Amino acid sequence: MLSIPINLPLPSAPRLVTSLPGPRAKAIVERDRAVTSPSYTRDYPLVVARGEGCMVEDVDGNVFLDMTAGIAVTATGHAHPEVVRAIQEQSARLLHMSGTDFYYEPMVELAEQLAIRAPFPRGKTEFPARVFFTNSGAESNEGAIKLARYYTKRSLIVAFLGAFHGRTYGAMSLTGSKAVQRANFGPLVPGVTHIPYGTHASLDYLEKTLFTTILPPHEVAAIVVEPIQGEGGYIVPEDGFLQRIREICDRYGILMVVDEVQAGMGRTGRLFAIEHWGVKPDIITTAKGIASGLPLGAILSRPELMTWPPGAHATTFGGNPVACAAGIATIRLLESGLMANAIRMGELLQAGLTELHEKFPCISLPRGKGLMVAVDLLDAEGNYDHKLRDRIIQEAFSRGLLLLGCGKAAIRFCPPLVINSEQVQTALDIISDVVKIV
Ligand code: PLP
Repeated sequence: MLSIPINLPLPSAPRLVTSLPGPRAKAIVERDRAVTSPSYTRDYPLVVARGEGCMVEDVDGNVFLDMTAGIAVTATGHAHPEVVRAIQEQSARLLHMSGTDFYYEPMVELAEQLAIRAPFPRGKTEFPARVFFTNSGAESNEGAIKLARYYTKRSLIVAFLGAFHGRTYGAMSLTGSKAVQRANFGPLVPGVTHIPYGTHASLDYLEKTLFTTILPPHEVAAIVVEPIQGEGGYIVPEDGFLQRIREICDRYGILMVVDEVQAGMGRTGRLFAIEHWGVKPDIITTAKGIASGLPLGAILSRPELMTWPPGAHATTFGGNPVACAAGIATIRLLESGLMANAIRMGELLQAGLTELHEKFPCISLPRGKGLMVAVDLLDAEGNYDHKLRDRIIQEAFSRGLLLLGCGKAAIRFCPPLVINSEQVQTALDIISDVVKIV
């Protein structure tokens, strides 16, 4: 295995020293092709050796500005020293014991930290939430469906077209994103109805048409919704949409499950994105940014909902002590400046993208909150142009800027929350140069 000295800090802007992919990257990509599942979706041949803050270095010594955070995960930046220290200290003490059958303090402490911050009604209990730890977003949603069905004794679920909730059977059944994610995998979990996302017209259709014909509301256990649709294109819903879901849930005794896997953990400038709308859900699912890159997820519910008995739901690894230690350090960092930075840098980014939109009609106006921002790429007639989007992403890579697509033809910007204003400007400059030539 290749070892790269890690004592030298990375530059804060892209630095390319080989053509891309370089020789080492090329060799690793070839080895990968022979042995890993072809279902992975790599857009460009980036072979990462190390990361620091908002920058990553590949195995050939090329340095990239990362506007992806490893799909919206490394919230505190790559290898934040405080997160690394927490991981090192915890891993020297205890790697694993399984919170399902035993106790250890980091799991309790992280549960407390999350619970006191959960945007649920303050009730009679000491904490406004209970927490179940998982290893991923899909698992969090899987468990949330189980909890909703268990508590309500109802089976039906409403989810949204364009939503992404994960790829295990329950989570995949909620996902309404791309046909390839479902094709040949059926039958899926029954009882899920998808409606369009983000509009009042869709909620009218739910209440006035579906609830009065094929979907008896008193048999619906949950409405599962992303506060900002992630993979679907970083879609911010219409004003009042999330409040109205809350009202519908209250009217029919349905649980409101908010999937904060991508939007949560500080990315939008609030710990949970739903806080922007002041809506109090019943269940929140989270993962991705929660432990700055270690595999961890969580289901938070109002305390009275977790009535399931011992053995009803459990996991060997979920709430691993090392991941929990990283989670505790992550929350501390988010609250001591990174969420505030996400708001400031998000505003700068949206202002810069608005200028690009004014210069280049193929770039739509930006949308999003904090550092969850996207633009669509459009053809001369104003239609979505995913080929143009893909060319821009490729060309940006060849100039040292890492981007990811989402939705029909969007580029998403979900950098580590440590990004600074020079780096935001560098990303905008590269995109501007790229758009001129694609
Ligand atoms: N929910 C949302 C909103 C997501 O964006 C994702 C992943 O992109 C998931 C769930 C699934 O998370 P994981 O890939 O950790 O299973």
